[in-house]
Amino acid sequence: MRIQILTIFPELFGPFLATSLVGRAVAGGKLRVEVRDLRDFALDRHRVVDDVPYGGGGGMVMVAPVWLRAVRELSQESRPWRILLSPQGRRLDDAGVRELARRDDLLLLCGRYEGIDERVRELVVDEEVSIGDYVLSGGELPAMVLTEALSREVPGVVQQRESVERDSFRTGLLDYPHYTRPPEVEGLRVPEVLTSGDHAAIERWRLRAALAATLAKRPELLERADLPPAARAELERLRREASPGGVAGSREN
Ligand code: SAM
Repeated sequence: MRIQILTIFPELFGPFLATSLVGRAVAGGKLRVEVRDLRDFALDRHRVVDDVPYGGGGGMVMVAPVWLRAVRELSQESRPWRILLSPQGRRLDDAGVRELARRDDLLLLCGRYEGIDERVRELVVDEEVSIGDYVLSGGELPAMVLTEALSREVPGVVQQRESVERDSFRTGLLDYPHYTRPPEVEGLRVPEVLTSGDHAAIERWRLRAALAATLAKRPELLERADLPPAARAELERLRREASPGGVAGSREN
């Protein structure tokens, strides 16, 4: 997968691209990330990339001609899918990450100031992507978020593929809780089943725990989750237990 990133702050990406899983993916050639300084495409010797807004007020706006030149020059070797990081874009989620990962060749545009002249979006952007309903000062952190999420989709980057497939959202559910040594922490013991060696029982516990976490923290995910019948049945049991007339109530009857 190739990801080109256009920014006025390329120095922000150094440690990010050299560390942990992304670092290994880049070093091993599985992920090709090229960070480009927008100012290299400026049209004057002062390397200006912004100007005052038409209509007055507000902060500076990034100028269209520099962005257009940069995007077109960076599309010469191949035509990447061009993504403008923007709070106005489609909100990123697991399905969106998987869809974008299939593109394989991406160019990420990181805005700053009040944003980029609207005509850039109209002329050369394929899609706007947001990382959430809040406003950051620049598109660099969103570009890192997207790059890291995409890197997990590249075969071989996450060694244990199974762990990606079991992560929150992928199964339609939140992940089950994880524990490691020591077996007891401040009076809290690891659920006994996890030390039993009974793999079928562990799988049943994990499914139930994932369902319970989703029901408690993100119940709306269950509406659209495509659950197998065994999981649906377990969910119904959990719901009955959680309802006021649930297990405790029915025992009294
Ligand atoms: N005036 C813009 C608005 O209200 O829609 C916000 C501009 S913001 C200060 C500057 C840049 O940060 C944007 O051009 C975009 O690239 C990036 N940015 C800010 N918040 C973002 C978000 N939630 N998702 C993706 N990019 C974001």
